[in-house]
Amino acid sequence: MTDTQDGAPQEGGQENSRGQENSRSLKDDLREIIADEGPISIERFMALALTHPTKGYYTTRNPFGVEGDFVTAPEISQMFGELIGLWAAEMWSQIGAPARVRLVELGPGRGVLMADALRAARAAPEFFQALDVHLVEASDLLAEQQRAALADSGKPVTWHHSLDDIPPGPAIFIANEFFDALPVRHYLKTPKGWRERLVGLDPDGELAFGLSEESEPYIKAQAPDGSILEVGAAAQRLITRIAARIVSENGAALAIDYGYVRTAFGETLQAVKSHVFVDPLEDPGQADLTTHVDFSALARAASAANALVHGPVEQGAFLAELGIFERAEMLKRGASPEQAEQIDSALARLAGDGESEMGALFKVLAVTRRSVKEAPGFASAQAGS
Ligand code: SAH
Repeated sequence: MTDTQDGAPQEGGQENSRGQENSRSLKDDLREIIADEGPISIERFMALALTHPTKGYYTTRNPFGVEGDFVTAPEISQMFGELIGLWAAEMWSQIGAPARVRLVELGPGRGVLMADALRAARAAPEFFQALDVHLVEASDLLAEQQRAALADSGKPVTWHHSLDDIPPGPAIFIANEFFDALPVRHYLKTPKGWRERLVGLDPDGELAFGLSEESEPYIKAQAPDGSILEVGAAAQRLITRIAARIVSENGAALAIDYGYVRTAFGETLQAVKSHVFVDPLEDPGQADLTTHVDFSALARAASAANALVHGPVEQGAFLAELGIFERAEMLKRGASPEQAEQIDSALARLAGDGESEMGALFKVLAVTRRSVKEAPGFASAQAGS
C-alpha cells in the first residue's frame, strides 16, 4: 500500500520510464538506480517496492487472504463493510443530504468493503440513489478484481489513479488500511544533528540502510542521539488535500488503520510476506511494506486545512457504536453452529482488544466541515475528552 518520490499516492511508480526490462528484478533496478544516483530515500524505496507499475508489490499480485500475505478487516467479515456503508449513509444525512454525492474509496483491495457497503446502503434508498462510486487504485490488477466484485452492485464505478482526478462535488472518502501503505522518511538523531536514513549499497553491492552526509537543519525536534523520527509526509499531504476538498465542496472522510494517537520517536517500517515479518530490503516488490499510521499527524494536517477532526477512536469502540454486536446477533439467527462460531470469531478479531485482535490496535478518524459537530461512531472520543 503506497507511493512515490514526493510520495503522492497517485504518482507511484513513475520511474518505470527508465525503460528497464521486466525480466530484471526490482532489486536489480534499485541497485542500478543507487549506483547511478547515490542512496535513495526510504520514501522512494517504499513507493517503488509497492506501486512500481510492473514490478511493485500491489501491481503484480493479489496479496489478500489466508493464501496471501495478510488479511484485512473487510476480508474477515461482511459486517465491517456493511457498517461502513451505513456510516456513509448517516454521514450523508449529516452533511445535508446533497442530491449527488461521490462515494470514494482509496485503495479498495479486492473490492470487498465497497461491495458490502453498497449492499447495506440499499437500506437507505435516498442515499443509494444519490451516490456515484469512485475508486482510487494504483494497481490495474486489483482494479480488475474490484470490477468483478462490484459488477452486481447496481452502481456504475469509475477508477482513478489519483485523488485529483475525481470530479468536483460533495464526496465521502473511505480509506481502510490505505494510509499505512504511503511512504515515509526516516531521520536519525546523531551528534551532528538529524540525518536522513537512506537506502544505499553495502561493499558487496547489496541494499543496505545508511545515512545522508548532510544533516537536516530544519528538523528542530529534541531527542537523544540514536532516536529515529518517522515522517509520513505523503499521508499528511493526502489528508490535507482531502480535508481541503471537504471544506470547499462538502463531504466527509473516514480513515481506518493500524496506528498510534500520539506522535512518538521510533520507526515502524515493516515487511510482511505470507503472514511472516521479513527484512524490508530483502526482496523489494515481493513483500508488503507498511508503517503504523501517526493519527495525530493526520489530525493536525486536517485541522490546519480548516476541517473538523473526529477521533481518533479505537476500531472496537467505533464498530460497537455502529452496532456490530447487534449485527452479529442478527446474522447468528438462522446460522448453523459452525457459522455462528465463525461470526463470533470474526467479531472478536474486528472488535476485541487482545494483541492479535484489531479492536484496540486499529484507530479510526473522521474529517468533516466544522459545521458537522458529530460523526457516527465517535462518541467514545467525546466521552474521553
Ligand atoms: N482497503 C483494502 C485494501 C488495503 S491494501 C482492504 O481493506 O482490504 C492497500 C490498497 O491500496 C491496495 O488496493 C493497493 O493496491 C492500494 N494502493 C497502495 N498504494 C497506493 C497508491 N499509492 N495509490 C493508489 N492505491 C494504492
